[in-house]
Amino acid sequence: MKVDLAALLQRYETAEFMFELDPLLARELPGVHSIEIPSPVTVKAQSVEGAVLLRFEADLTLEMECSRCLNYFPLNIIIDQTTTCFPKQFEHDPEQEQRFNGDEDVIFFDEQLLDLNEIVASAIALTLPMSPICSEECKGLCPLCGHQLNESNCECQKPEIDPRLENLKNLLNR
Ligand SMILES: [Zn+2]
Ligand SMILES: [Zn+2]
Repeated sequence: MKVDLAALLQRYETAEFMFELDPLLARELPGVHSIEIPSPVTVKAQSVEGAVLLRFEADLTLEMECSRCLNYFPLNIIIDQTTTCFPKQFEHDPEQEQRFNGDEDVIFFDEQLLDLNEIVASAIALTLPMSPICSEECKGLCPLCGHQLNESNCECQKPEIDPRLENLKNLLNR
């Protein structure tokens, strides 16, 4: 969804609306196979001294690809992110600069429409695990034959025992 922040703020001090996340965003998110639809996002906009605070809230279910076994699994994530939007002309204004200095959740908007999907996509990207796994116990795929080890063992996965440990094992078995 795209909004015209400048126009919105001319009319209202605060605004609240919902939109549905574009499911095609999944393509931009690493490890995400799909986004469950419908995925409504609540947006609360508040105008503060010429800037706009946008608070995004969503409870989303993503279908992720497990980094070990490559199966898909559902992952629930909660988005609660506030982004401060400053008009473009503030960007190089020394008087305004201290208001956004060092703040990462800041964007600058101009006359063009602001794409809310893109903001939510970066918020999702921040919450995603580096290596998503379907379960802590996931055994993944055999590195030799590619067999799905969660289902059964394969022929190439015979445990190798270090000959030096073999003696120790014999001792322990006594
Ligand atoms: Zn897995
Ligand atoms: Zn194998």
